[in-house]
Amino acid sequence: MINILNECKDAKTIGISGHVRPDGDCVGSVSALYQFLKKSLKNTEIEVLLEEPSGVFSDVPAYELMTGSYDKQTEFDVFIILDSVMDRIGFAEEYAKKAKKTINIDHHISNEGIDCDVNYIVPTASSCAELVYEVIGEENLDEQIAKSIYIGIIHDCGVFQYSNTSPKTLRIAANLLEYGFDFPKLIDETFYEKTYVQNQILGRALLESILFMDGKCIASMIDRKLMEFYNATSKDFDGIVNQLRIVKGVECAIFMYEIGTLEYKISLRSCGAVDVAKVASYFGGGGHVRAAGCTMCGTYYDVLNNLSKEIAKQFPNMD
Ligand code: AMP
Ligand code: MN
Ligand code: MN
Repeated sequence: MINILNECKDAKTIGISGHVRPDGDCVGSVSALYQFLKKSLKNTEIEVLLEEPSGVFSDVPAYELMTGSYDKQTEFDVFIILDSVMDRIGFAEEYAKKAKKTINIDHHISNEGIDCDVNYIVPTASSCAELVYEVIGEENLDEQIAKSIYIGIIHDCGVFQYSNTSPKTLRIAANLLEYGFDFPKLIDETFYEKTYVQNQILGRALLESILFMDGKCIASMIDRKLMEFYNATSKDFDGIVNQLRIVKGVECAIFMYEIGTLEYKISLRSCGAVDVAKVASYFGGGGHVRAAGCTMCGTYYDVLNNLSKEIAKQFPNMD
């Protein structure tokens, strides 16, 4: 465990960041820690350096600070990276690198804990938000902090469905509910609700998905043309890979979308038999055993081929 107030006690300036294309865990963790430090360290300047998240998070307390840019030349006394490694925080990386002290709180198994001066990396935690809860301490919560942490947890454990949900996760969630925020509304609005266009894209991705490796793998891809047709961005693709994964017989799901010419963002999900963190790490990405990601170049079929070869290594009876 780390004593965050002790680590920050002499700091005049603190920066907080998380990974690019921030998800609910990233947004919730940054929001919770920001609010806690803000109320605990009255004379410290605290800045959030995070890409703009999806609009579904607009009710999260620190949302308006997540603007995707920072134009001051601050050399932060302390820089805190949440839910990520150093090289996945985008524009914030240059600020983190020149900070006097860096702190990393994360739960990715692929995070070796070597990027920062102070590291609190717990791969068994459901979410970074669960770790932020511990770091803040139950006695220091308030309704807004509790709500932020709750959003972080539900997004990374699929509203307590995935295997990363532990008894501890549920105990923490129970404590958070004591604060009385409207949790069914949060779950609906940030997790389940889809726009008409998002549902149409999901439909397209399912329709055009392909099964391979005897039905053990499934893949689907959204290209630039389709993104332009629907005027869609990465924020519209949440949940697609999970829908692919639940196809009966599937062990490993691959979803990708084009982020540049012949360049794809890959999402991998596993039902347990395949360690997708290993697959994603091989291609320079990372994540968790059952949920991981990376970026790859080539045609759709090149990328699929390369991924298949790595996945097949984990099915000893297949070639
Ligand atoms: P995604 O498929 O983008 O939702 O990511 C699944 C999980 O893998 C999340 O916990 C991500 O934070 C993590 N992840 C995705 N891409 C990367 C990457 N390039 N490096 C490390 N972790 C990643
Ligand atoms: Mn995340
Ligand atoms: Mn996370």
